[in-house]
Parts: sequence; structure tokens; C-alpha cells
Amino acid sequence: MPAIRGADSKKKTRRGTRGLDQIHADVASKKHLQQHLDTHAPEDLPGFGQHYCVQCAKFFESQMNLEKHTKGKPHKRRLRQLKDEPYSQKEAEAAAGLTTDNGRKEVRESEMVDVVDGVDGVS
Ligand SMILES: [Zn+2]
Repeated sequence: MPAIRGADSKKKTRRGTRGLDQIHADVASKKHLQQHLDTHAPEDLPGFGQHYCVQCAKFFESQMNLEKHTKGKPHKRRLRQLKDEPYSQKEAEAAAGLTTDNGRKEVRESEMVDVVDGVDGVS
């Protein structure tokens, strides 16, 4: 749902959600996750940021709340969503027909030779 105060307003609120692609990077790399956590002051977070669900990008008041959450439906739904790899820029380009298939390099070189020959014929 588009936010009334513009696309960025969701990021600025407490309820702002983290994108699935970002969470994918969080799960894959501790450093990426730490960078995200470093943007928050522990005293501003529920439970001082001690109880964090990486997959849902959510903080919880206590370990018990976190455990309850990991057994719940929203968390399991999120795990299912995260099973699919996020779309990469490369996939988007491939869908638009812009392939970078290095295996076809030889074909391209012969095409280039043809083009050069054509130019020679004109001059
Ligand atoms: Zn969760």
C-alpha cells in the first residue's frame, strides 16, 4: 500500500518494514545484519534490541515473546517467502532481453567481424 506521505515515510516509522531482499542479505551475512542493527540505539528498541527475529526484521520485548513469535503463523509465512530468492538486477535484465551470456562470446565476435566487413565494403 502506498504511504500517504510518500514512498519513504514507511522507512521512517517504527513500523517500517525491511524489504525481503534486505532480509535475504541479513540472513546470508552477519555484517549486513549488524549494519542494520547499528542504525538503531538499543535504548530505543523493545527489550533493548536483545530479542530480534532476523527473518521478520522485528524486535521483541523478551525471549519468551520471540519464541512465541517463531512458532506463530506470520513468522512461518515469512520463512516461506524467504525461500524464494529475491529478483536480482540480472534477472530483470534477462526478462527484458538484455542478456549477458558470456558463453556466446565467440558468436558475437564473428558478428562483429561481419559488421567490420560491411563497413569495409561501403568505404
Ligand atoms: Zn519472525
